[in-house]
Amino acid sequence: MDLTIISTFRCNSKCQMCYIWKNPTDPREEISAETLSKLPQGFDNLNLSGGEPTLRTDLPDLVDVLQPKARIMEISSNGLHPERLLPIIKKYPNIKVRFSLEGDEATSNRIRGEKNGYATKTAGLRRLREAGGTDLGFAFVVQDENVDQLLLVYEYARKNGFELSTSTLHNAWQFYKNDNYFYDRVAVARKVEDLITAMLRTSNIKSWFRAYLNLGLIEKILGHDRLIPCTAATDFAFVDPWADVWGCNVRTDLPMGNLARQSWREIMDGEQAAGTRAKVGMCKQNCWMVTTARTAMRSTVLPQLPKPKPFAWVVKNKLKLLVGQRIRFDDYVDYSRVLASPYSPRSSYLLNREKVSLVRHRSTTDQRYPLKVFENR
Ligand code: SF4
Repeated sequence: MDLTIISTFRCNSKCQMCYIWKNPTDPREEISAETLSKLPQGFDNLNLSGGEPTLRTDLPDLVDVLQPKARIMEISSNGLHPERLLPIIKKYPNIKVRFSLEGDEATSNRIRGEKNGYATKTAGLRRLREAGGTDLGFAFVVQDENVDQLLLVYEYARKNGFELSTSTLHNAWQFYKNDNYFYDRVAVARKVEDLITAMLRTSNIKSWFRAYLNLGLIEKILGHDRLIPCTAATDFAFVDPWADVWGCNVRTDLPMGNLARQSWREIMDGEQAAGTRAKVGMCKQNCWMVTTARTAMRSTVLPQLPKPKPFAWVVKNKLKLLVGQRIRFDDYVDYSRVLASPYSPRSSYLLNREKVSLVRHRSTTDQRYPLKVFENR
């Protein structure tokens, strides 16, 4: 159903919650347009991500190959090079683009280690709209440092006609980081309630289901089980810059195959994929990333429609708001049971001039992902 392609581990942001930028891939080793052409048609959502995909000089070629293969083609970018997306949007106005934004100017720049990031990406998204873009928005990673601004960013996006997608701190091989823990889980979770209520108050059906997605974020933040079982390796998968296909972007023990050496059919029908699916069925992680959670929320028969559980929750709570009642979050979320959070400080790389260089010749999984354990509790 859904596939995320991590086209590169190079990135020109220096985020405090993601260390891709410290582990850049050699462009000569990154998955090619030719390899991606082996993907079949008929995906529901194809997300071209990174690292930062606009650092790929062949980005237009990648998009030409991928765009016809999906109902929705999405580019997740830090927004620092909007000019590189302009010709793509002019050619394919319906491509979904999300720029990372983590709060007001000072907060976003500090969290993302971007000197002029806020100004560049907010102006850049407007330029993409002037160029004809129809599905543009921001992506916000909820954390202790910016949760106070979550509602402000949502209102800013709405006022300007943009979407807002949310995720929260995770530990994952994709981020090269295994110490992203909340400082105060309850305080962060309570703030997300305000966003849920605001989203349900709108007349936008998509926003109502994003409200449910954010309910799942609250469970993740508190350390509870997922709202909906994971369907990794069955309904979604990830392709890394070396063309390795993975069940998800969290665990390094869920390989499925390699798109450069195998056909898509061989990968999906192979023994490795079957073994990975068996492990997914027993996975105890409580991750809830936007790329994977939104897949789990949708019908596998008609991916445009939600599964019954989110549908029922949305109808019930939308009706409550319509008749003037409040959403009783404590009926859904057990705030008395909150997992302890190890203290692991995060600090800004905005003024830190830490230099990184390409990490060449990473030929084994151990060399590519030296951190082994990525826990989401
Ligand atoms: S629940 Fe487990 S298998 Fe599913 S995405 Fe999270 S870590 Fe991966």
